[in-house]
Amino acid sequence: MRLVLLGAPGAGKGTQAQRMQVRHGVPQVSTGDLLREAVAAGTPLGRAAKVVMDAGQLVADDIMLGIIRERLARPDAARGFILDGFPRTIAQADGLAGQLVDLGVSLDAVVLLDIDPEILLRRMAGRRSCRRCGRVFHVETNPPRPGDRCTDGGAHDLFQRPDDNEETVRQRLAVYALRTQPLIEYYAKKGMLRRIDANGTLDEVDARLEAVLQQR
Ligand code: AMP
Repeated sequence: MRLVLLGAPGAGKGTQAQRMQVRHGVPQVSTGDLLREAVAAGTPLGRAAKVVMDAGQLVADDIMLGIIRERLARPDAARGFILDGFPRTIAQADGLAGQLVDLGVSLDAVVLLDIDPEILLRRMAGRRSCRRCGRVFHVETNPPRPGDRCTDGGAHDLFQRPDDNEETVRQRLAVYALRTQPLIEYYAKKGMLRRIDANGTLDEVDARLEAVLQQR
């Protein structure tokens, strides 16, 4: 399966991608996670990306395309992948199309997670990630369950992403509207776009996602 999950920040792309990779046995490829790893490692890319991410802006297209080329060439992506947070601009979508031609593969679908803007803000305010395993939770709607241990057997070490504060969230939503929303039309014109209602519980959204993937 080769899939793109499209949607505003906070729409649930990461959470759904994490659940889908378990069900379908193909890796989630989150460019946000790849950038956060570079930030944590303190690489030159990470240092430059942190400034851009903290401002709620987008990292340059050529850098993102380089990261994706390297990621999709890894063996675990040979049987498929779930792209989460990429592409975010038309230039990235064009670049991805070229890379897929080079790899001799094609996307099965692009799924838009459609969500009420009010819910987006609430989701991002309550979002927490585990510092060790990277799983994403929500303080109200999806907290770690009793007995749900992190990879090392201990409790999850939860933190709030620095770009989930209210001011940066507003900036990220504005950038989404300007730079990423045009991809809806882009993929619709190619006949690849499927939409699902991403309001509701995790299980409800999961079920809609699986149903839409059955429509070949
Ligand atoms: P995310 O975890 O997908 O919300 O991404 C967090 C931040 O990483 C974004 O606000 C951007 O600054 C940066 N980022 C992630 N993916 C991309 C991308 N495809 N293009 C440009 N910047 C990105």
